[in-house]
Amino acid sequence: MFEIIFLGTSASAPSVHRGLSSQVIIHDEFRFLVDCGEGTQRQILQSGLGFKRLNHVLITHGHLDHILGLAGLLSTFMRWETIDKLEIFGGQWALDRINDLIYGIVLRGAKPPMDLQLVQIKAGTIFDDDDFTVTAFPVWHRGPDCFGYLFEEKTHRPFLPEKADALEIPPGPWRRDLVSGKAITLQDGRVIHPDQVLGEKRPGTRLAHVGDVGRIDELAQFVHDVDVLIIEATYMHAEAEMAEQFAHLTARQAAELAASSGIKHLILTHISRRYRERDVLGEAQEIFPNTVVARDFDTFQVRRGECVKVEQVKESNSTK
Ligand SMILES: [Zn+2]
Ligand SMILES: [Zn+2]
Repeated sequence: MFEIIFLGTSASAPSVHRGLSSQVIIHDEFRFLVDCGEGTQRQILQSGLGFKRLNHVLITHGHLDHILGLAGLLSTFMRWETIDKLEIFGGQWALDRINDLIYGIVLRGAKPPMDLQLVQIKAGTIFDDDDFTVTAFPVWHRGPDCFGYLFEEKTHRPFLPEKADALEIPPGPWRRDLVSGKAITLQDGRVIHPDQVLGEKRPGTRLAHVGDVGRIDELAQFVHDVDVLIIEATYMHAEAEMAEQFAHLTARQAAELAASSGIKHLILTHISRRYRERDVLGEAQEIFPNTVVARDFDTFQVRRGECVKVEQVKESNSTK
């Protein structure tokens, strides 16, 4: 299961109701901050997420509305909050600009307040844990080295509790070992093999995030059949020419991509102040009904085939 919390959903400049691009994608204990527009740290506080375990930042591209928040975030880590490691992943062009921002403006010769790594990525797997991966793929926008990110759970065999119950396997470490593929010996001497309590192989949940992008034709190969596609919709079709000029998508284009690529749920973000949300939504839903327009602090849980909006529980202690 992946959880996504939108922290900023506005395009280019903030609006009264929308902050600049940023979202957190959570899988188990891992948190990925995807983009970090100006004002992100306040959104992190307001969302109740806090700063802990925000060790991985994935940058889609180097435009200012996606990176300026890194300066403030780092400044806060210098004085008020602690984190032992911060890895910022991005293309070379984005990292050059982030390097200038962090080392030229924020630090100016001071040591980073944590083990800080700027990690240059290329298309391919950038993160590989026991049960999920994150893959970067190229997207076409203004400037080189723009990336989308695909979060994928690995194929797994589900644990079948009814079978475990029938075999009278007590809860606890025995079941854990079976889930991780190890045979166990129970206290009564019986040996149980994982095959006895695991079901058929099941593909994992897949979620794709695409930041700013000007063309959909090359995206299908990377995002086809995902459970959720999060993608920008900066313009509406009436201004398709302007969308093309600035290398952004219209809501219609985003919906066309979803409809033609077997995508299950579409979440639009990077919304311009020039439109009403319901108009953007309406344009997309005409082509792909299973669309929502994200608002700041919207939270979705994504499981295989399923995307559920949840009420976010705000924590009073911001450092949790
Ligand atoms: Zn942008
Ligand atoms: Zn951009």
